[in-house]
Amino acid sequence: GKTFENDSVAVIGLGRFGSAVADSLTSMGHEVLGIDSNSANVQQWVDRLTHVAQADSTDVRALRQLGVDQFRHVVVSIGTDLEASVLTVLALQEIGVPDIWAKALSKRHGLILERTGAHHVVYPETSMGERVAHLVTGKMFEFIEFDDGFAIASTHAPKRIHNKTLADSGVRTHYGVTIVGVKRTHEDFIYAKPETLIHPGDILIVAGETKRVEKFAAAKG
Ligand code: ADP
Repeated sequence: GKTFENDSVAVIGLGRFGSAVADSLTSMGHEVLGIDSNSANVQQWVDRLTHVAQADSTDVRALRQLGVDQFRHVVVSIGTDLEASVLTVLALQEIGVPDIWAKALSKRHGLILERTGAHHVVYPETSMGERVAHLVTGKMFEFIEFDDGFAIASTHAPKRIHNKTLADSGVRTHYGVTIVGVKRTHEDFIYAKPETLIHPGDILIVAGETKRVEKFAAAKG
């Protein structure tokens, strides 16, 4: 088969999530091979991705024929059809793909994918749901959580640290979080330094354990 660049990616399942991944990768300049068993989905992406193919991704032979075994990175974006999702990851593991990413709809779905050979499992609905929960009350403007219970968020500075420098604010001792940067209204983002003065209305970029970041953002006083 054709040889692909090392940073090219095969995306299996061109539903809502898979096609968004494939589209972004294309915009970022990567070669993308999109695979879907549904011909309408394949047709829809034929002009927009480097290569598209209609195939059943649970079929090891079909994957080999398409040269999927030559890819370093493969993203499996099949959610609703649990069996197809699991069998696809298994097939990719069998043909030796070194970096398999798979989307899961639930924690147990994700566990199965991990045991079947996925190197990374993502939970788009769960993660976005959590993110929106943090944003919707208006206490955070951005919220990103990492796998190990560590988060980065942007939020307003609580009153007790207004007009104090970060060194004097006691943020680390009081809240156990680290201020990474400060965004002042109509000004550029600046990296936080001990002498940085916190004004009312400043937006702080805060990093730390998720629970502590949440507490900091919820602090009123
Ligand atoms: P989303 O919620 O992101 O749209 P879906 O699970 O609804 O995700 O979409 C999965 C996509 O994967 C669909 O386009 C479907 O045609 C495709 N698909 C499902 N099973 C297979 C399979 N065995 N081989 C290839 N593509 C498949």
